[in-house]
Amino acid sequence: MGSLSDGFGRRFHYLRLSVTEVCNFRCTYCLPDGYRKAGPQDFLSVDEAGRLVSAFADLGLKKVRLTGGEPSARKDLDAIIARVAAVPGVEKLALTTNGWNLADKAEAWRAAGLSHLNVSVDSLDPGTFERLTGHARLDQVLAGVDRALDLGFQAVKLNAVLMRDTAEGFAAFADFVRERPVAVRFIELMRTGDNAELFRAQHLSGLVLKDWLTANGWRPRERGFDDGPAIEYEHPRHAGRLGLIAPYAPGFCDSCNRLRVTARGKLRLCLFGDGGIELRDLLQSDTVRPALLARIIDSLGAKAAGHRLHENDPGATRHLAQVGG
Ligand code: SF4
Repeated sequence: MGSLSDGFGRRFHYLRLSVTEVCNFRCTYCLPDGYRKAGPQDFLSVDEAGRLVSAFADLGLKKVRLTGGEPSARKDLDAIIARVAAVPGVEKLALTTNGWNLADKAEAWRAAGLSHLNVSVDSLDPGTFERLTGHARLDQVLAGVDRALDLGFQAVKLNAVLMRDTAEGFAAFADFVRERPVAVRFIELMRTGDNAELFRAQHLSGLVLKDWLTANGWRPRERGFDDGPAIEYEHPRHAGRLGLIAPYAPGFCDSCNRLRVTARGKLRLCLFGDGGIELRDLLQSDTVRPALLARIIDSLGAKAAGHRLHENDPGATRHLAQVGG
């Protein structure tokens, strides 16, 4: 059935599926006061998630990323992974986690069919890590990363939010990837509905990292067709890579290749777009698949050229746990 594309000729092979809004961390730039229950926790079931991904696979999907909140907050995460991994057409199944229980869970997730793993680690300094997440768990999280590396995931990557509080950490992360075949990607702090004050105090342009990388002998690497938005850099004496995701950079959205579905079954055409298109009513049985496919295809016509973050407009996104980043 070909592939999904929008009015700007962009093709969408990559779905970010949030499976919960719940998170156990209190990251300063996302949920500084922790997760607050907002209504019934009526998140997509294993069957609904399976039907959704099957429909997108019919439309040319190749890569799925499971996100949250914190996806491991779902007791049935292994079943969701197994169900999505079994969908014909899904070539890469990734998960983004804060890593709190990764050392214990990595093996089961790998066995269930997970191939790619991203772990959020904003700093390798224990004090800064605790201040940013509300948890003194850096050692635990890093033990999980090393466990995952032993288990032969196709890729293990770290996500670090780039902000004034973490800009001291470039050299430490460079050391971290000297022997480890891991990619650490710094993501420019993004403005959301709830973090205006922190954003003003902490936002830093990705150019700061680019200059540091160039000055320290790192060279940019070619981007793959279903790679996310990161520009990754290599160094001849490092097994791993460092990278940058710069939503504020000119032309960032020109190569947008991903769509999102929230944990409550809403299609979000953009991370910083409006509240989304309801899909859940069409996830209750396979008999309505044609209507589901039609609704997804029709909705792409409304996808905007890009975000409006430069106008300080984060759309309907109050914090990233709502949509899964
Ligand atoms: S901000 Fe929106 S349009 Fe831009 S890359 Fe992200 S999802 Fe795509």
